[in-house]
Amino acid sequence: MRRRVRMSVFVSAIVLLWDIFAWAQTAADDDADVVILKEGLFWRPEGVTWFHTYVDPWWLLAMTVVAFLMLWVAKWMDEDARRLGVYPVKWNYTTMSICFLSLVAFFVIPPYVSVPAALVSLLVVVCRYVPVRNRRVLPSRRLFTPEHRVLMRKKFLRVFGIKSRELERKLARVAKKHVPVTLFFQVGRVASPAEAPPDERDPATVVKEVVGQAVLRHAREIYVVPKAGRFAVSLKIDGMEHSGGTLERLRGSALIGMVKHLADLASDEPHFRIQLPTVDARLTVSVRVSGEGSAERIMMRLTPDGERLRRLGELGLTSRQAETLRRALEQAQGMMAVTGPAEMGSRTTICAMLDSLDPYSRNIVTFERPVTVSLASIEQNDLTRMEEPLGELLAEKLRQDYDLMMLGELPDKETALVGLTAAQRQQFVIAHFELSDVVGVVEHLFELGVEPPAVAAGLHTLVAQRLVRVLCQQCRLKTVPSAELLQKIHVDPSRVEFLWEESSGCEACGRTGFHGRTGIFEVWQPSQASRKLIAEGAEAAELRAAAQRDGMVSLQHSGLMLVVEGVTGLKELAQVLKTGT
Ligand SMILES: [Zn+2]
Repeated sequence: MRRRVRMSVFVSAIVLLWDIFAWAQTAADDDADVVILKEGLFWRPEGVTWFHTYVDPWWLLAMTVVAFLMLWVAKWMDEDARRLGVYPVKWNYTTMSICFLSLVAFFVIPPYVSVPAALVSLLVVVCRYVPVRNRRVLPSRRLFTPEHRVLMRKKFLRVFGIKSRELERKLARVAKKHVPVTLFFQVGRVASPAEAPPDERDPATVVKEVVGQAVLRHAREIYVVPKAGRFAVSLKIDGMEHSGGTLERLRGSALIGMVKHLADLASDEPHFRIQLPTVDARLTVSVRVSGEGSAERIMMRLTPDGERLRRLGELGLTSRQAETLRRALEQAQGMMAVTGPAEMGSRTTICAMLDSLDPYSRNIVTFERPVTVSLASIEQNDLTRMEEPLGELLAEKLRQDYDLMMLGELPDKETALVGLTAAQRQQFVIAHFELSDVVGVVEHLFELGVEPPAVAAGLHTLVAQRLVRVLCQQCRLKTVPSAELLQKIHVDPSRVEFLWEESSGCEACGRTGFHGRTGIFEVWQPSQASRKLIAEGAEAAELRAAAQRDGMVSLQHSGLMLVVEGVTGLKELAQVLKTGT
């Protein structure tokens, strides 16, 4: 940007010099060479009809003022758009092209047309930009709000000594709508929009701004990382990282300092609570600080209040898959293996399953690394805080009388055997893996050295899952797929006229093109025949064929059903299926 500003200043300086030069020349020239137009506003060399050299000092002054105003607005818009992440390139090009066109207009159009035209076009751009940026910021930082307009009118009238009761009432009414943003820990009152704008570097303001922006964009995690003398903010939205703009060094340091102050870093789980009434949010922010000195960075995880655990029926399972899982959970023995790459929802699925059980009629124990969601009336063991190896812990717990055991990991043969043996006796075991599909679980157990017959006897149900991002219903785009493509994905071309895919996004989805995520699943309950194959230690391809014979809908197929329904796009599905394989 600085280079562009320098360029523009350079160009305007040339225009200025050219005008002065032309003026000096015309003034010195013989009158015969110069035609003075009737309007008397500018001179033009004879014979040249398209080109005007403007020498009237007053118009020259007006043009210079307008040029500087434009540059100032362009610079402000560029910085503001970058900070808020609202299409900075688009707005930059818009303002720069208006600056350029105005400069050209100053040359070739009479000034009484070009100067107002330049001002009007600038005003139009600003009027289009302000609502866009206002939606991205907290109310205290909005511009040209109804409140501002009333205040301006009031000030204007006061110049003429007029006091309007009606305006006072209107102002009070508008101000009432804007609830000031408050921090739980903040002592005293935070400035309301009617008062002076808050200090840019006020740490509480920076925290509110950054968290508020993340809430508006449906982000779950915020990363603030030092980068080239500034701080880069990135937001994790639906599992993908997006830029949240940058913070100037002092504001970034203020943010980190305040977050560290709010979250008690000495505690086990550093966190603070924040209330943002203007974006209608109350949340808990868990904080992790890493690095030291100038390399210090923070991660904030946002958990909105009242966010409840998803129920089994809300995860994206087909009704048949959900029914299969419910029935499996009623079993008194057997192992259910739940698998999926990290952060692909398998832990949430396990929590939803445990939550669907009645903890009073069944004795439930879990071993997790770490405990992510606390479940009522269930004994949860955090492996990160235990020193004994999992195998020993399990052996000890097995002696106690549990009905259902959840194992967050099966790292070795020993634990796998303990789990499978327990599953064959009087316990139902839910085991979590980070493998790509159901057949992968069987192969993994073979690789650990567990005898195939033990695997076949212990495994009851296998579940694999992924999360796909859901297309934003406001801005998704229709595409007409080719017949070959449809054939390739095994979809009958006569049944599908068009598919949907993501656009570059809209305001509703925070410019991501997606809104939330949903699960795709494959659920396999091996039949007797398949069990026999497992016991024989069959190859992966054979097992996959067996699963299909048992009526399993594969991950790919589940995903394609969502694509045909327009819930997600092909590109997104392909990318998600690639992870973990
Ligand atoms: Zn959208």
